[in-house]
Parts: sequence; C-alpha cells; structure tokens
Amino acid sequence: MSRDINNKFWDEELETLPREELEKRQLADLQEIVKFAYENSPYYKRSFDETGVKPEDIKTLKDIQKFPFINKKTQRDTQGVGSFLGELAAVPEEDVVFISTSSGSTGVPTMSPFTKKDFDEFQDTESRWFWQIGMRPNDRYVHALNFSLYVGGPDVIGAQNLGALCIWGGTLPSERLLFVLKTYQPTVIWTSPSYAWQLGEKALKSGIDPKKDLNIKKIIVAGELGGSIDATRKAIEDIWGAEVYDFYGLSDIFGACAAMCEAKDGLHIAENHILVETIDIHTGEILEPGQVGELVFTTLRKHARPLIRFRTGDIGRIDNTKCSCGRTHGRIHILGRKDDMFIVSAVNVFPSDIEAVIREHNGITGEYLIRIFERDFTNKYAVEIEKNADNPKSDDEVAAEVTAALKARIGVKPARVVVRPDGGLDTRSEHKSRRVIDERTLDYSI
Ligand SMILES: [Zn+2]
Repeated sequence: MSRDINNKFWDEELETLPREELEKRQLADLQEIVKFAYENSPYYKRSFDETGVKPEDIKTLKDIQKFPFINKKTQRDTQGVGSFLGELAAVPEEDVVFISTSSGSTGVPTMSPFTKKDFDEFQDTESRWFWQIGMRPNDRYVHALNFSLYVGGPDVIGAQNLGALCIWGGTLPSERLLFVLKTYQPTVIWTSPSYAWQLGEKALKSGIDPKKDLNIKKIIVAGELGGSIDATRKAIEDIWGAEVYDFYGLSDIFGACAAMCEAKDGLHIAENHILVETIDIHTGEILEPGQVGELVFTTLRKHARPLIRFRTGDIGRIDNTKCSCGRTHGRIHILGRKDDMFIVSAVNVFPSDIEAVIREHNGITGEYLIRIFERDFTNKYAVEIEKNADNPKSDDEVAAEVTAALKARIGVKPARVVVRPDGGLDTRSEHKSRRVIDERTLDYSI
C-alpha cells in the first residue's frame, strides 16, 4: 500500500474539506439520491406524491425539511412487500451483494441491502475510522464482534483493506479470546464496552494482567453507550492500559457511521454519506445544531435502499465546529436511545447518566441494574449495585452515598438503592448486557 503511514488522515482531502465545500458535495448527492429514490422505490414515489414534494424541490440542504420522515416501522411495514427487498429498496435484487439484519431487539428484524458500490464505500468508511484511531498496516487486529447477520461483522474487511493483520474473532468464549490475546499479542480489539470491561476483569481473575501480559494498545467499543461515558471509558482504559475509542453504527446504514478521534470529544460522522438533522422528539420540530433531540439521518450515497429522513430513535446533538484534530466533518454526541429514556418528575433520565455515576463512585464494582416502575401512576426508578468486598462501609451508608450522587447528577433521586455483594448481580453476560428492566404496565411511548 502506497499510503504514507505518518499521515494522520485516511483521505485527507475529504476529511478536511472546508464546510462550504462539504455541504456543496452533500447537496449534489442529496439531489441525486432523492431523484433516484423517487424514480426507483415504490415507497418514496407514493410518499412524495402524497406529500406533494418532488426531487426538484431540493435546491438547498434545508429543503430536505419539506420531505416526510420514515422510521423503523416504515422499514418493517414495507419489507417483503412487492418484492423480496420490499418497497423501500431502489434496485433490483440482482444488484444486491449483501444484506445485514438488525438484532430485532425492539421488534421484527429489519434487513439492510447493499449494492457492490454501497458495500465498497461502507468498507472505505470503516478503513477511515480505523486509520483515524491510529491503526496502521503493522497492527494486529482482533474483530470480536458477532458475524451472524450483524452489520458490524463485515467491518473487519475495512481493517484488512487498510493492511492490518486481521483475526476474525467473532463472539468467542472469553477463555478462548484471552488465549488469542495472549498467544498472538494483537494490538487492537473491537468489542462492546461492557464486554471490554468484563474481559479485563476475567483476565485479572485468571492471572493475566492485561497491562503486562497482553499487548492491546487500542480498544474500539460500540453497540452500547459506554464508550461515550467518560467514567466508563476511563475504567476500561485503566484495566487494559489502552486507549478506548467509541464507534457508532446503525444496522440500517453502516457498521460504524461515526467514530471518535484522538480528541475524544464526540464522534465524527461521515457527512459525505449522511446528512444529519436533529428534531424535537415530541413535536418533530427542526432544532439548531447543538440542541439535543432525536437524530434524523438521510443517506446520501446508498443506492440499494436509500433512507430519506430516517428517525434513528437515538437522542443526541451535532457539533459542526472544527475539531482540534483538523477534521471538518461534524461530531455527534449520543445521549441514549429514545426507547431507553424515561421521565421521572418531569426530568428526562437516561440510563447512561446513571451508569456514569455508578462507574465513577469508589467502593463499588461498577456493575448495576436499573428498574423502572410505577407507583401511583408516577414513574420511579431503583438501582441495584455491588459493594466491593474490601469496602468497610455498611450497606446503608453505601446506599445513602449513591442516592446522593444520583440526585446530584440527574436531579431526581432513585426510589431506592439496593446494595449487593461483589458478584451479586447477574449482569455480567457476555458481549451485550441487559441492565435496564422496565416493569411498567402503562404505555409511555413517545
Ligand atoms: Zn476530531
């Protein structure tokens, strides 16, 4: 590969485009993809006609606001309708080389098709993220993500195209993965944040010190919010003696659509592929950059199934100011899933806020379980935690401390904090942990 390994950019021209230039490119691609969708996808043809909008209406980026939203339900309702790929698709099946499907954790799994060009551009974007965190051809990389159906599996090809030595780990059992890490001494690994944390703890318990016995220098995390929570990221970094970078992907688009750089201040999003809007979660009103709301993405270059104004269900904000790393593509800050957010005494509470408190607090293990329930038609939350074996304080003292810390950070205190012994919570499941239990029976969908 002829690329200069000392250049910090994978594609310097693209990554440092002045915003004016970047937006000019976005507009040209937006005009093209909206026209393509209208002419080739039965769904968009019908939906645009019903709304009374036409591809020619797009004269500036803001004109996208005239077009209707779609969401997960649109995907579910249209897949398989009329053809195998469904009404949202804009190419015939013979042009499709790959489909991924969502986990289906919040309903029927949805599939995402890619043409050859879509797939190649997806992998070029993944190479760009790997390069951005400092991966180079002399790195050894373990891709410890699920390969079954999941869009994160093929991301390993991006690392391979970059020239790194790739080990397709998948979801190996921990003992086997630790064997790989010890024997092959890889330098970079990608997994979920909760698993990175647990794997570090497991290594220590089996007599392996990740800092001394292993060679991991960088850990990529995705799939859960932990990598963007400073306290969680630092806790993982401390166990491993490695840098942790958060990536953000959507099964509907790419394995990773956005990634941290060395500044670790939000995640750069591939704005050459995705036009980002932020909207009020209740009213759908368009918000200004910097305001917190639901992120809405329009894919600018995916032809198999364009997504025009897709409501992601993720709450966050976009920052379009230039980053200290020199990249001009905007950064997103994700706060959590809309579905995970709950309201207590008129305060929006995200499980990630609770996690940040628990991970920062001394004398407890960092494991936690949140229960959301109703009392007198009002939302309440309770948190279960684990006390460290060597913590001399009583359970009541620890519960009082954590209650105060949660009240200070979130604004509303939990109904109760339950203190368990080290290992007392059943939250250490492999790869993706379930830490929020919703016991409510009323409908709180927003
Ligand atoms: Zn940056």
